[in-house]
Amino acid sequence: MITISGKAVCGGISRGSVFVFSRKESTIKRSHIESSEAEIARFEKAREKAIEELSMLYDKALNEVGEANAMIFQIHQMMLEDLDYIESIKNIITDQMLNAETAVGQTCDNFVQMFRAMDDAYMRERSADVKDVSERLIKILSGRDKGGIISDKPVIIVSDDLAPSETVQFDKDKLLAFVTEGGSTSSHASILARMMNIPAIIGAKGILSDSYDGHDAIVDGYTGTIYIDPDDETIKKMEEKKREADEQLKLLQLLKGRDSVTKDGQKIELCANIGNVLDIGAVLKNDAEGIGLFRSEFLYLESSDYPSEDVQFAVYKDVLSKMINKRVIIRTLDIGADKQVDYFNMPKEENPAMGIRAIRICLTRPDIFKTQLRALFRASVYGKLAIMFPMIASEWEVIKVLEIVDEVKKELDSEGIAYSKNVELGCMIETPAAAVISDILSKHLDFFSIGTNDLTQYTLAADRQNPDIGEFCDTHHKAILRLINLVVQNAHKNNTWVGICGELGADLELTELFLSIGIDELSVTPTAILPIRKKVIETDVSEIKESMLSKYLD
Ligand code: PEP
Ligand code: MG
Repeated sequence: MITISGKAVCGGISRGSVFVFSRKESTIKRSHIESSEAEIARFEKAREKAIEELSMLYDKALNEVGEANAMIFQIHQMMLEDLDYIESIKNIITDQMLNAETAVGQTCDNFVQMFRAMDDAYMRERSADVKDVSERLIKILSGRDKGGIISDKPVIIVSDDLAPSETVQFDKDKLLAFVTEGGSTSSHASILARMMNIPAIIGAKGILSDSYDGHDAIVDGYTGTIYIDPDDETIKKMEEKKREADEQLKLLQLLKGRDSVTKDGQKIELCANIGNVLDIGAVLKNDAEGIGLFRSEFLYLESSDYPSEDVQFAVYKDVLSKMINKRVIIRTLDIGADKQVDYFNMPKEENPAMGIRAIRICLTRPDIFKTQLRALFRASVYGKLAIMFPMIASEWEVIKVLEIVDEVKKELDSEGIAYSKNVELGCMIETPAAAVISDILSKHLDFFSIGTNDLTQYTLAADRQNPDIGEFCDTHHKAILRLINLVVQNAHKNNTWVGICGELGADLELTELFLSIGIDELSVTPTAILPIRKKVIETDVSEIKESMLSKYLD
């Protein structure tokens, strides 16, 4: 048995085989070939396999996200049938006696250039699809086609770290646990693990040094330990621990349907964070009082091209209808930094966390922003929608955003399209600047939602993606807690309500503090809702307020 320890980011115990997730490399090995017939046959075999994969992806997407979203996989299949594309690859193989990977790579570059030079915007955008299908072919040809999980049974994913664009391609039914060598508690792989309520460990040094692929393992997400080839004693111990944890969970179920009110009558709203319509099952199962953060950027990460207004409308309508008049806060796209999307073609930045991301993209590329706003307002008639804007740092940004919102509403009015007149508008407080000027910002907005993941990284100058930052990223740092307190005080003066949607909101050690400073809402991963409700119900704010304020803020 081999025991490796890391940092626990999501509790739970899982047993299964290890699946080492290998990242696709973008470099193509160029080589000369002996026989063009054999190479063309190899290319044809890869092409068939790619078409088969795409047809499976189409069926899966059709079930999970509907026809409009699934369509892209059909378009990709059609591209693989395109005679010009196929002929170009075969010509490079025969004329230059080059391997199929190189031929596909060269053809891809030529086609991308050709598409990009076209006048028609739709055709220009097809360049991303050519890249995508070509990468699929190259992956298959070079034997690097382990993109998603290739296994019929659920597995423990082991990796160096996982980008959001990688986690979205996993088949969620096949995930037992995540173990990464890098990563951080607020990285998106950790957030996804909490969302799915599967055990997760980060910083597990050595997990990748040997090939543990296919080995039996147990992940203890409470202590941050992974046991590879566990012995009988460990298996027994872990089974017992899992039984006890399941018992605790059963007790929490009794809190469903109860109000989240303290002993002395202070109410707090407990909502859920989601990244996908499919997460709504977990939201309802855990008795969330609404959705406090829908990370809409996952819609963009999951597509290979800009999602159209209609596609977005269908998704937002679905979420709002399913939540049956409970408030749903949809955050406008938060692309950039660790959430990169190829087809946005963003210039490479030295320091993307401080670059053109989130609202900065929306304000510099208003067409993309307006498409999303139109879809949101059109969907607003199907439920109780609130919209929030990420990465605000200055008052002018809020003013500009509100102007664009007004333009969109006017457009809809002139087209006779209905929308709700009660959509609340708010912004994320995730830059120290926004927290400090929250008195000014609150005059313009109905609510704030504090994004402690980014607020912590920017306040402490501590990269949220860096697993080695350790003690320098103290999530209970007084600077953060004082900023949260300041935001609540400023906001309440202008009747603006305040929630927390960063990971700190689920920190049970701070629930009493959040109640003491008067936070109105906490939006957390669905499985954290009932444990927080238990804490809220057991708290008497009048008894603990003074000591909480002095312990954490003085
Ligand atoms: C945050 O920054 O706290 C937040 C909720 O946004 P994200 O984690 O998606 O950056
Ligand atoms: Mg953020």
